[in-house]
Order: sequence, then C-alpha cells, then structure tokens
Amino acid sequence: MPGERSIISPIIIVGSALILYWVYRDSRARDAYPPFWFAAIGFSGLFIHFLAVPLGALIYIMVRPKGRLVPCPHCGAPRLATLTECPKCEGPLKKECYRCHAAIPVEATECPECGSRS
Ligand SMILES: [Zn+2]
Ligand SMILES: [Zn+2]
Repeated sequence: MPGERSIISPIIIVGSALILYWVYRDSRARDAYPPFWFAAIGFSGLFIHFLAVPLGALIYIMVRPKGRLVPCPHCGAPRLATLTECPKCEGPLKKECYRCHAAIPVEATECPECGSRS
C-alpha cells in the first residue's frame, strides 16, 4: 500500500534521527565511543531494518557507562561525573590534591579525601 507507506516513513525517519541524535549526545557525555554507536546504529537502521535503531539504542542503554551526568565547569556540556577530561572541550575535570594526591573535582575548593584546602 503506497499511501500507507508514505505516511509512516517520515515518522520512522524523524524518530530514528531523534534516537540517533540522543545516542550520540549521551555517548559523547559519557565518553563511550560516540562515532561507533552513531555509525553502528545508523547503518543497521539504514541497511538492515528500521527497528534496528530503537533496538540498538536499547543495547546502548544497557552497556553504556553508568553514572550521574553533571555539567562541565568549562563549557557547560553534560558529562559523566567520573571523567577526568571533558569529552567536548577537553578541559581538565580533575586535579591532584597537593597533600594526599587524590584526584579531586577541578571546581572543588576542599579535598573530599583529606579535607585540605587547595
Ligand atoms: Zn567542557
Ligand atoms: Zn587530599
């Protein structure tokens, strides 16, 4: 049925693009190989079946690095709280405590490990 197909396909295209965009942004914030996920899910959706896109996104959600997303103190982009470098602007997110040498958040004024002021 050509008429039915022409109504459904724009929804599929827009939906797939939104899912791909979200996966790309989320994997970049988590530093989890965004070009790999974007290409793998995008190509599967294009050449295998459009359902590979939501399915690929589900697999991504299951295997992605877990953790809280917090804004970067340099550029404001969301990133995983445990990263040492911003995936977007590559600014440092951790500094070394001069006393106990623990890796502490760059915006911290007090070391959470030993309590010394930097
Ligand atoms: Zn940044
Ligand atoms: Zn310390």
